[in-house]
Amino acid sequence: MARLAGKVAFITGAGSGIGKEIALAFAREGAKVVVADLNKEAADATAAEIEKTGVKAIGVKVDVTSEAQVDAAVQTAVSAMGNIDILISNAGIQIVHPIQEFSFDDWKKMLAIHLDGAFLTTRACVKQMIASKKGGSIIYMGSVHSKEASLLKAPYVTAKHGLIGLAKTVAKEGAAHNIRANVICPGFVRTPLVDKQIPEQAKTLGMSEEDVIKRVMLKETVDGEFTTTEDVAEVALMFASFPTNALTGQSLVVSHGWCMQ
Ligand code: NAD
Repeated sequence: MARLAGKVAFITGAGSGIGKEIALAFAREGAKVVVADLNKEAADATAAEIEKTGVKAIGVKVDVTSEAQVDAAVQTAVSAMGNIDILISNAGIQIVHPIQEFSFDDWKKMLAIHLDGAFLTTRACVKQMIASKKGGSIIYMGSVHSKEASLLKAPYVTAKHGLIGLAKTVAKEGAAHNIRANVICPGFVRTPLVDKQIPEQAKTLGMSEEDVIKRVMLKETVDGEFTTTEDVAEVALMFASFPTNALTGQSLVVSHGWCMQ
């Protein structure tokens, strides 16, 4: 039996990387998927890939920092799919600088995408989950940086820590409506987001790109391995398909042992 048969998932940032992998994995498990991304072309491409397998999917353009766009995208999703059972709040970017060089605009941009985006998508989906009386599962894409800090990432670390507070609150408020909220905390995963960081960090830290990978990114793992998009999708599937409120308000690290909290 498919683990998500009859469910509808709304996944932000699903035009690329981790979000895309989760969209494909959820579709394989029977979920209809709303691929929500700032990049409409990428969203449509992921949706088309899913539709080829005979599972319903739509691409929706949304900037998760826009209240109006998020509300409209969730309405579009509900009209097209009938409901939303699962929200994966995953859209994200990375900007790295030493704190004394961080512009206020970049700080605000980071918090807007990671935190405002999580709040706005949560609020819109929770309203639907309550109205449908079916409840649902909300999953935030945190990071090892929800638990640990690294050089050059002040707003990212701040925002990713913040998601744990949001998930705990949504878990408490959502319980009466059978709404669960959890956070996935991946280590480094080779996606466009990380591939962009390698040369940037090499420049800022004065190291070779190989050294950034070995001596910075994977230094603390138990085996020097990157986490994969498939690893993260498997954890998302576990949270999304878990049947009771026993598993809520939690954060789970998937990082080859980099972080053991
Ligand atoms: P990615 O760059 O491959 O994909 C991110 C997607 O988000 C893109 O499709 C992009 O268009 C979309 N996006 C960006 N801004 C948006 C906005 N304002 N509104 C809607 N969509 C927007 O990156 P990824 O590595 O797959 O990252 C996905 C999430 O996983 C992020 O939240 C990131 O912080 C988190 N994460 C990534 C890693 C990693 O190592 N790659 C590790 C831990 C956590």
